[in-house]
Amino acid sequence: MNNQAFIINGNNVYWNIIFEPILYINGEIQEILIVVIDVTAEIKSNLVMEKTLKLQGEFLANVSHELKTPLNVIFAAVQLFSMYCSNGSLDERKDSIIKYIQSIKQNSYRLSKLINNIVDSSKIEAGFFQLNLSNNNIVEVVEEIVMSVTDFTDSKGLNIIFDTDIEEKIIACDPEKIERIVLNLISNAIKFSENGGEIFVDIKDENEFVEISVKDNGIGIERQHLNMIFDRFKQVDKSLSRNSEGTGIGLSLVKSIVELHGGSIHVESEAGRGSKFTVILPTRNVFFESNLYDREVGNKKQSIQVELSDVSL
Ligand code: ADP
Repeated sequence: MNNQAFIINGNNVYWNIIFEPILYINGEIQEILIVVIDVTAEIKSNLVMEKTLKLQGEFLANVSHELKTPLNVIFAAVQLFSMYCSNGSLDERKDSIIKYIQSIKQNSYRLSKLINNIVDSSKIEAGFFQLNLSNNNIVEVVEEIVMSVTDFTDSKGLNIIFDTDIEEKIIACDPEKIERIVLNLISNAIKFSENGGEIFVDIKDENEFVEISVKDNGIGIERQHLNMIFDRFKQVDKSLSRNSEGTGIGLSLVKSIVELHGGSIHVESEAGRGSKFTVILPTRNVFFESNLYDREVGNKKQSIQVELSDVSL
């Protein structure tokens, strides 16, 4: 009897049970030897594997859809341009061409964001994702990010407000990755807010650690979804995205990057009232600072466009 399930002391266990008769010389059964092999660990790891494969399948289907959407937009614009070329109407279509170039740009940013997220997510999983830690004034880093997104918030009819209880707090962090964390949270706050909404980005000094929070008064998150939005693969549920663009990788990546900094992230939210994401980073300094940067110098503006590509201007 293979893989027989039992509940022992409230735990699920799985056994393979072998019945082996021991015979007298005349062939009659003398006794029956029962061998019980505990296969719980094997069965449980198979169940976990099956679940992961299913989630990966769903993830791939979703990602393919997300890749195809911007690609279709770019392809349609290319077809239009070649039509304008062949019927000689390029000059008179200048305005519409400028509009389509903007759309190609926007959708290229969306593709970049998605590809970056997939690559980084796999790097984290494989343990290859690295932080370039240096000692920085976290207040300045976050304030600069907030300042850089005001065009986006203005264009969406949203108000973004930065507040801090300290002017300077030097902590060991990777400023490019902090930018990614904060931009991701702001991008979600923009995406899930309605016209006239407010976004508060606050910094609080708690001595041993520093708290960065991004709060919105947008659509909020249902209680039953709260504990799954940080999961890799799982949150890629389209019904959760409520018609907004996105893949659902963002928050799991944010969580991993925060944890690589030795910190944590949590969310408080109420459907219909808004959400507040709080990142807690430890106050510590590094002795050897890394001056390596992942992106090319001067490309900050472009990386902001990439991170906020879900919420175009
Ligand atoms: P996505 O790319 O889909 O935004 P995320 O991992 O960033 O992926 O977020 C996962 C899900 O969490 C979103 O699809 C959304 O349902 C929910 N969510 C995240 N931030 C907010 C927010 N500020 N307000 C409401 N829902 C949010």
